[in-house]
Formats: sequence, structure tokens, C-alpha cells
Amino acid sequence: MASAETLDVGAEMRCVMRTLMDGEYEAFPPHDLLRSVWRLVPSFAGNEQQDAHEFMRFLLDRLRKELSSGKHAGSQTNGLKGGLSPTSPKTPQGKCEQDDGVTGDKIMEIFGGVAVTTVTCMKCERSSERREPFMDLSLPIPPVVGKNGSIEEGEGPNGEATLQQCLAAFVRNETLSGHGRYFCDGCGKVQSATKSTRIAKLPPVLCLHLKRFTWKGHAMRTKLTHDVDFPLDDLDLAPYCETNGEAMYDLVAVVTHHGLNAGSGHYTACAREFTAEGNSDWQHFNDDDVNSLTAEEVRTGQGYIFLYARK
Ligand SMILES: [Zn+2]
Repeated sequence: MASAETLDVGAEMRCVMRTLMDGEYEAFPPHDLLRSVWRLVPSFAGNEQQDAHEFMRFLLDRLRKELSSGKHAGSQTNGLKGGLSPTSPKTPQGKCEQDDGVTGDKIMEIFGGVAVTTVTCMKCERSSERREPFMDLSLPIPPVVGKNGSIEEGEGPNGEATLQQCLAAFVRNETLSGHGRYFCDGCGKVQSATKSTRIAKLPPVLCLHLKRFTWKGHAMRTKLTHDVDFPLDDLDLAPYCETNGEAMYDLVAVVTHHGLNAGSGHYTACAREFTAEGNSDWQHFNDDDVNSLTAEEVRTGQGYIFLYARK
């Protein structure tokens, strides 16, 4: 039996991609891939419901590790590259781009962005900045009420929050006070401060994850079941960026969680297929059921993970 270090998740992933591309099966169970992951992360094993976001992050981190080790050097033209790398990387446009040091890393070249957090002392106004690469952004769902309420008004068609409001909540300035104060080098002591976050570099494929689940230790406890409206086309990221520039994205896939709480329920995914004529069709992946669905149907349901591709 292979040791954890010699397990080849990339090869299993490649096998899944090839089987999908062959088109022989409408659906098939990726047991070998799953078993490899279970061996590497025993807490994923079994039939308990797991967090799709945590699983995806593990998978991407593992693929990064394997690719950087040279494990797949001989297979780049043999399936994995076709499945996992952008075949025609889009040239970054606009100013919302800065050198980030993530080049040469295939996974980061696709999903990697950079966020910048600025903390400003409320006493002397000295600022400090921290830039951090990200593979996805975890967004809060802002509490919203109806039109006459005192909290933020939901901007969705039925008064629900929108993904744009979640992004706005992510970049909203917050005050660090009380136990959250920080040490200001300018003042030489602990001070209250304001903290702001912006996106400094956008990736070709932006992964957005909604903080639907609250945790207690390793156990998921509750789920925010609020609907969040999201655009299929023309999500404009410019308002959340450090600098101005074109930053339009279209949705290519969404993972939805069905169920009232975190301990049970079911995940399904919708993915977009672009046609040669420039149109697109949506497919719904629900275990071994794969069905077409309309754009409107994609927007119903409680989206959990969103993948947006740069236009
Ligand atoms: Zn200060």
C-alpha cells in the first residue's frame, strides 16, 4: 500500500478528467480519488457530511504540492495540464494587478490573487500594510431586512442580500478597539485603529466562498440559510479593488448546499458549458444525475462556492 507521501492525487484527478472527457459514462464515482484523499486526511473518510470548501482547499493545496515537487513533470502534456491549466490565459488588464510572486505555480496562476490589508492608527494616523496571496475569498453574509428595517437593505430581487453586498461587507472598514487594538510603531504603544481590506490582484478564476457555516472546534454547528442573489454575468470586482480598472467576471460554476443545517444535507454543483456560437448551457451535477437547467434555475438555491472567470 502506498504511503501518504507517495499517494498521487494528481494522477487520480487526471484519471477523473480523462474519464469525463472520454464521454463513455454520463456519471461515474471517483472512488480512487476519494480514497487517496481519505488516506491523506482521515477526517474526510466515511459518509459523514464534509465541508465542500475545506475539501476543495485540500485538493488544490495537495495539487500545488505535487506539481511543485515535479511529480507530474512528465504528465503535463498528458492530461493534467489540459484539465487544470488555463489553455489560453487571459492577459491581465487594468490596474487591479500587481506583481505577486505567484508565477510558476500552476494552481496559483489560475486561482491566486492578492489581498492587501491596511491598518491605520486612530491616534497618529500611521498606516501599515500587509499583502497576502489568496486562492479564494471567504465572504460574510451581511444581515439584511426589508425595505423599512434598520439594518442594511437587501438588494436582491426579493429583498435578499446580493453577492456584491457580501463583497462590500468583506472590504468594509472595521475598527480595532478594546482587545482588538494593535501595537502602533508610530505611537510606540497599543492603540485603536481602523482596518481595511482590498483586492490588490485578481486571478483569472476567482473563487468566492460564503461563510454559511459556523464552527465549534472541528464540528460544524449552524448554517446561515439566507438566500444570496448572485449574477451569472458581469460581476464587477472593481469596487473592491485597491486601484481602478476593468474587472468583469462571469460565473462558470457554483456549488450549492441543500439542507437546513451543517450536519446533514447535500451538495450539488452547476457548471457552465460555453458553445462555439458564444452561448452557454448550464448543467446540474447531482450525484449520478446530470441534467440541463435554465439560467434562472441556476440562481435559485443557496450558493456556497462560486467560481467566476475573468471576461
Ligand atoms: Zn499611532
